[in-house]
Amino acid sequence: MQESVQKTAERFSLRHDLLEISYPALKKAAQNIGYTVIEFHHLYNEKQVETVICNLNIKEAILASRGFTYVNRDYRLIFIHEDLNEDEKVLVLSHEIGHIVCEHFSGDTIIGNDVRQEHEANEFSHYLLKETFTRKSRMFFKKHKKIVIIAVILLLIICAGLLIGWKIRKEESYFGEYYISASGKKYHKKDCVFVKDKTTAQRLAQEDYESGAYTPCKMCLPE
Ligand SMILES: [Zn+2]
Ligand SMILES: [Zn+2]
Repeated sequence: MQESVQKTAERFSLRHDLLEISYPALKKAAQNIGYTVIEFHHLYNEKQVETVICNLNIKEAILASRGFTYVNRDYRLIFIHEDLNEDEKVLVLSHEIGHIVCEHFSGDTIIGNDVRQEHEANEFSHYLLKETFTRKSRMFFKKHKKIVIIAVILLLIICAGLLIGWKIRKEESYFGEYYISASGKKYHKKDCVFVKDKTTAQRLAQEDYESGAYTPCKMCLPE
């Protein structure tokens, strides 16, 4: 079964460490998948960009669009209109990356003539830009790594301290290491037949010993 667009977007974001989505971060991700981002103007372009536009014969696309992806045997290019603001560039670039990642290659050099594919690229962009809980937590951890580690260590130390304290207090609440049965009024050594292997046997509490209600067993504690 084909992976959902949401999954694809999340996987892409994880793989390219897109914790905070920005235009430079997306540009880097595009580079990572082998695409060069070229910024263009409708009317005037730098000589280098103009040469590329002429050589690829894409003047029409340049005039008509805010951004598009060009793919052939030799080139993998994403064109983005330079006059867009940062947010718009993020939208357009994430949409184009969506086309690439969702493999919308149909033989045309310029991707973007299929309504279904346009919809899918928009969906990809939506999920890529959406702040998920996982991404938020990773961002938080990355930003506050030291504090998180110190907090966890402190918490562990506190827990260990509490546990030790609780064990000591519990041990102090007993009188020696003697046991009583559920109904008897004698206390016994651990392996005395009256308490050994009895699930109802309990440790003799200091309090119960002091109350005088219990006396030593004559069999296991003859003295
Ligand atoms: Zn498109
Ligand atoms: Zn006994």
